[in-house]
Amino acid sequence: MNDDQTWAPLRQEIDRWQVAGRTARLWLRDDDVVEPTDALERLLGVTRAPAIPLALAAVPAFAGEALADRLKTEQHVLVAVHGWSHQNHAPPEEKKQELGGHRPRETALGELRDGLAALRRLFPEALLPMLVPPWNRISADLIPELAGLGFTTLSTFGKAKTDSSIRLLNTHVDVVNTRGQRGNRPHQDLVAELVKELQARFASDDEPVGILTHHLVHGASEWDFMARLVEETTGKPGIAWLPARELLT
Ligand SMILES: [Zn+2]
Repeated sequence: MNDDQTWAPLRQEIDRWQVAGRTARLWLRDDDVVEPTDALERLLGVTRAPAIPLALAAVPAFAGEALADRLKTEQHVLVAVHGWSHQNHAPPEEKKQELGGHRPRETALGELRDGLAALRRLFPEALLPMLVPPWNRISADLIPELAGLGFTTLSTFGKAKTDSSIRLLNTHVDVVNTRGQRGNRPHQDLVAELVKELQARFASDDEPVGILTHHLVHGASEWDFMARLVEETTGKPGIAWLPARELLT
């Protein structure tokens, strides 16, 4: 299958939205940033010229002045709170979690309060009061406490639950990981997942489609996918990338 065939289903879906006079909504979240790196430069480069709004989930315990300085001039970037130190507290037989029920609630909540404060200091303009739990997992009993800490939004992976006590801005297509695989996901599969999400929104546009990336582990396949995705989704009336901040209002 050549590249054009790979991307044809997305093109058709975007055309369908355009013909209907509608615009599908996308947003982009990238996780794990702590400092400027070549990979971060590449991500900024991919998104800057087409002005694709980028929400970077930064790890508060390790993010510092160097990152703040680097992002100061990037108008298209917002920053979200990626837990505290991205440490796993779950035992080996469980899925990794920093914010699971493995520690006293107060400990986790204290870290989240510190994390929000630290990133607010570093990114006074760009900070979104949005929590992105490491590994997209958080204990249900922490969620009602988030608003009291100053968070307005939670962002995990998968269809947003309608009965959540806090606003959800979720991601739905993971460019790097899928069950049992890390990296080198076939572009055909990624396109199919994105098209499926868009088709569901065509029937009921209840949440924007979130694309999730991890710039630090991208290889050639992921960078190629991103470049092509940008090409296929910009300058078309049937689809638009929106800033997370706009989606939270
Ligand atoms: Zn992470």
